[in-house]
Amino acid sequence: MKKIGVLTSGGDSPGMNAAVRAVVRKAIFMDVEVYGIYQGYNGLINGNIQKLELGSVGDIIHRGGTMLYTARCEEFKTKEGQKKGIEQLEKFGIEGLVVIGGDGSYQGAKALTEWGYPCVGVPGTIDNDIPGTEYTIGFDTALNTVIDAIDKIRDTATSHERTFIIEVMGRNAGDIALWSGLAGGAETVLIPEEKFDMDDVITRLNKGQERGKKHSIIVVAEGVMSGNEFADRFKEATGMDTRVSVLGHIQRGGTPTASDRVLASRLGAKAVELLVSGNGGRAVGIEKNQLVDYDIIEALAKPHHIDLEMYNLSKELSI
Ligand code: ADP
Repeated sequence: MKKIGVLTSGGDSPGMNAAVRAVVRKAIFMDVEVYGIYQGYNGLINGNIQKLELGSVGDIIHRGGTMLYTARCEEFKTKEGQKKGIEQLEKFGIEGLVVIGGDGSYQGAKALTEWGYPCVGVPGTIDNDIPGTEYTIGFDTALNTVIDAIDKIRDTATSHERTFIIEVMGRNAGDIALWSGLAGGAETVLIPEEKFDMDDVITRLNKGQERGKKHSIIVVAEGVMSGNEFADRFKEATGMDTRVSVLGHIQRGGTPTASDRVLASRLGAKAVELLVSGNGGRAVGIEKNQLVDYDIIEALAKPHHIDLEMYNLSKELSI
């Protein structure tokens, strides 16, 4: 393979830039030309494609977001859209594609694979919800952003002796809520993977207050319900007012942590190695600190698992 392409798609995540840099530099190191496809599958269909050089990815390793931009593209979900994309790739002589993104972006890479076009998926999402990898690029940075917010909210919660509800991202996965709740010492963590019982939530808060706790922090994953909806239900059950913080898009931005930059560099380079050696149709990941790769179609069929032992631990430690 002498020419490959790289795109970022779907929700952006901190560390995507480090992954793009790794793809470009590893490819050039292997004497392979690299083309950047701008604005995800949208740019692919429209031919928004430019050759990238070593210097094109200079000074981005520490920046959040993605220099290739990202977009949602409904047209790419159709066979016609996918065909247009492949025609553009052929026009530029691009023989294989690295797709950096989340679950939806992987579906696009899977579609290209089914057309017989070589693609490798790199997991870039803050949600940590991609099967076939223990960690996704951006998860660690998002967690640190959430923890910073929890620490700050804890100060005001303690001063006012109030209960705070913090809504975090994660789509249908509870990883951000669980990890940040455990690391931030939240009293209660609600994740979509486990049913919650309002009586249990109230009993735990009451117990904490009886022994003199001044603050109560409840982390709610967006996949459970919105923070405001939970606050309404909580008020209905207890008559107590709470304060709600919806962290929103601050979780997507910011300087990637060292851990995310290293992960992005390793996964991006691995994707190029696979593609250039003729192993398309794969998804790369990390398990037990070893790089792994799976058939992208099989990887997508696997369910995402949350660590329930950690969930139980978060309950034990927040009594
Ligand atoms: P993420 O990659 O962060 O999960 P999305 O779910 O929005 O984000 O997906 C990003 C893009 O991937 C979509 O806008 C679309 O272009 C493409 N995509 C999603 N699902 C499919 C599919 N079933 N077939 C082809 N392309 C898809």
